[in-house]
Amino acid sequence: MAKILGIIGGGQLGMMLTEAAKNMPLDISKVIVLDPTENCPAAKVGAEQIIANFKDESSIRELAERSDIITYEIESGNSSVLKNLESTCEINPSPETLSIIQDKFTQKKFLDDNGIPVTRFSEISTKNELDSKINEFGLPILLKTRRDAYDGRGNFKIDSVEQVSDALKIFDGKSLMVEQFVEFEMEVSVIAARSTTGEIQTFPVVENIHDDNILKMTIAPARISTEISKKAEDIAHKTMEVLHGAGVFGIEMFVTKNKQVLINEIAPRVHNSGHHTLQSSKTSQFEQHLRAILGMKLGDTELTYTTIMYNILGPHNFMGEYNIPIINLDNVFLKMYGKLESKPQRKIGHVNIVDSDKVGIEKLLEQVEILKDDLLIKPKKSSG
Ligand code: AMP
Repeated sequence: MAKILGIIGGGQLGMMLTEAAKNMPLDISKVIVLDPTENCPAAKVGAEQIIANFKDESSIRELAERSDIITYEIESGNSSVLKNLESTCEINPSPETLSIIQDKFTQKKFLDDNGIPVTRFSEISTKNELDSKINEFGLPILLKTRRDAYDGRGNFKIDSVEQVSDALKIFDGKSLMVEQFVEFEMEVSVIAARSTTGEIQTFPVVENIHDDNILKMTIAPARISTEISKKAEDIAHKTMEVLHGAGVFGIEMFVTKNKQVLINEIAPRVHNSGHHTLQSSKTSQFEQHLRAILGMKLGDTELTYTTIMYNILGPHNFMGEYNIPIINLDNVFLKMYGKLESKPQRKIGHVNIVDSDKVGIEKLLEQVEILKDDLLIKPKKSSG
């Protein structure tokens, strides 16, 4: 019988999950999202909405009562409340997996304990401990808050010992960790899925280009050798085996200058670097996530088209209503997230630029350069 799906978070990821669910009416009859923003992106495409904070206990309970199965599109859900609800409602990925991932230190320790390569890291709670790790790992070093940090927020790169006191002051009261700075050649990611049946599938490795710590562009497939690509896929596969989570996971990795592949971090959810799958692959990451949590056979992950995903971010120079870009090209697929207002660096939408004519990545990159101007978010002119 078709199930009612509850999602914690109703932003763009929740929106694209809702759209995927609508294409599977025999498996999912309804989507309910929990999100604090009234008329959130997922609600705009037909999800029912509980308007509340992601961590609000009574609202999570209400979501569990009204749903057959719960999943999330953000990692900051309240894992302890979810743990208590597991007996009443199926929750995937499991709150246990979520709680390991939510804390960057616990996550790295879990990976390291399972023999999965990560950079050197340590928890720290005093300045002395930080000083000693600087001696051990050398500079630069990355100081990170362990929880509730994403898109580089909560990271401080310490280049010199003079910065140590300032860095600690900024994160006063937060639990912290440090990581050796990785001199990477490329950032890549693997979108991996594990079904409740134990089946594991990975999408091909993609290359991620960040600007100001925010993903700007994903190139699918990554411009790496088959050997490195295999290494990354094997690491993703092993991670899914040990994590025991069901669903899609975004596994971010570094390819180092000496060709090592290290995990940077894992997102227990569909991931921005998997948006290309909406056009590039037979199965989108959103459909794959639903298949995984429902225990269905996973879809084909083969890349049908080389594709570049380019994020449309709110510009720094204004906040407020904006004009929606207009793109009329056969190989460019614009996806806007229905957000009313632009804010600096806010993810407003994306385009997938598909290599349908087999011109190759370099030519596609040239097309991105030409498109950039048309994709700039500009303030809406008030009429009259
Ligand atoms: P995070 O939010 O921790 O994923 O970090 C955001 C960005 O910071 C990553 O995409 C990397 O570009 C960079 N970063 C994070 N950790 C490290 C590290 N140990 N060494 C070098 N760069 C890093």
